[in-house]
Amino acid sequence: MSFENRLTFRCETDVGVERSENQDHYGTFSPDQIGTGWLFVVADGMGGAAGGQEASRIAVAAIKQTYSKLLADDHTIAPFDAISGGIKAANAAIKARIAEEPALRGMGTTAVVMSIIGDLVYTAHVGDSRIYRYRDGRLEQLTRDHTRVQFLVDQGIITPSEARKHPDGHIIVRNLGGNRDVDPDIPPDGPFRIRDGDVFLLCSDGLYGLVSDEAIRQVLSYAPPEASAPALIELANRRGGHDNITVSVVCAGTQPASWATFDPHVLARKVDALAVDDTSDTALFEAYDPEALSPVDFETSRLEAVSLEMATIAREQSTAAAPPPSKPAPSTPPPAAVTAQPPPPTSKSSSGAPRSRGRSGAFIALVVIGVLVLGVFAAAIVGAVLFQDEIKEAMGLEPPPSDSKKKKKKSKPKGKKSGQRPQQQLRPERFAVVETHVDRCGMVSTEIALPAACVVLERSLRI
Ligand code: CA
Repeated sequence: MSFENRLTFRCETDVGVERSENQDHYGTFSPDQIGTGWLFVVADGMGGAAGGQEASRIAVAAIKQTYSKLLADDHTIAPFDAISGGIKAANAAIKARIAEEPALRGMGTTAVVMSIIGDLVYTAHVGDSRIYRYRDGRLEQLTRDHTRVQFLVDQGIITPSEARKHPDGHIIVRNLGGNRDVDPDIPPDGPFRIRDGDVFLLCSDGLYGLVSDEAIRQVLSYAPPEASAPALIELANRRGGHDNITVSVVCAGTQPASWATFDPHVLARKVDALAVDDTSDTALFEAYDPEALSPVDFETSRLEAVSLEMATIAREQSTAAAPPPSKPAPSTPPPAAVTAQPPPPTSKSSSGAPRSRGRSGAFIALVVIGVLVLGVFAAAIVGAVLFQDEIKEAMGLEPPPSDSKKKKKKSKPKGKKSGQRPQQQLRPERFAVVETHVDRCGMVSTEIALPAACVVLERSLRI
């Protein structure tokens, strides 16, 4: 089945919100213009002054001219070869234009090309403009960006979600107008066969850079091209419009059933909602095929990618070295290089570090408690000795004989068990008798005798 006479499409471009010049160009060429099938082109120019605009204009014109000429001159030529020839001719034409006017040096452009012949779709591209296909409710990206971050994703250095917000997100590693010959990417499995109702979208990064794949899918699933194309541009502008925006929406054959309920007012409300809440970042790379990386891409970006990878590894290593020492020694300061590291968040600490800090804190607390207890007992001893007469008087007891201390000193202590500890003979008639002993094991004992009872308080500390 041929779809050449059953196409519905709408192509639009917009300067966006922030820029004053539109450097995008698109071209839509019918069989009457090119001889065979339909040709759709989107080019996203770049470069100083008016160079970007000139490069994209040259690219669209050169691709159309060379493509149609090759097909006309050789009826046996494969459409892919004609498209590839057109893209290479565009590259040569841009370089020739730069040679004529050196002020344009540095200009370049992307190019995404789609040719529909019969029931087949031929695609090719250079740069980061894209082709999507909407089919059976799903949106699939048919091209893979020639960008640095896409290469890093291919190599597993960053994830697709990281690529979405990467600062080098749109550094292009292959474009038209560079200093070398350029080969476009062509699907390795040949042309795509059209299924009735397929919808194709060609666009510049001004669209997908601001509008998620999920939002694009929702718009394409609801509205026909004459409404979806301007809706997508409006959506990109409502979400910032920091770049030029170009879209070409092409429906082949019968319109999808989901379009039957299309209502422009409902579409407007849908755009309102998507402009506010478009968080479906994960859908951006879902159709990406890492198998199709060409050697040219790899050679172009190898050094950049390796340097970025090394920088990433260095960052990770410096981050990993941040945690504090895992085995702090209370009596010996740790090395200066380790103590200089700030303590990391608890969630990132190794499991050993918090436990070490806990043991150290407990030890210090025990030392403090021991010192305080000793201080209390020392104060009690001094107080009892110095004010024993006043205390006894206050308690209504007879003052002790003047030689009580001498008797005490002369009294022979009775061993409690083993005789290892010197023993104080407790005298209940006295208000308080306190004595402190230190045994061979370093045990410090303090004894306090009261008239009615004898209380022995003992605290120990290794000294
Ligand atoms: Ca752009």
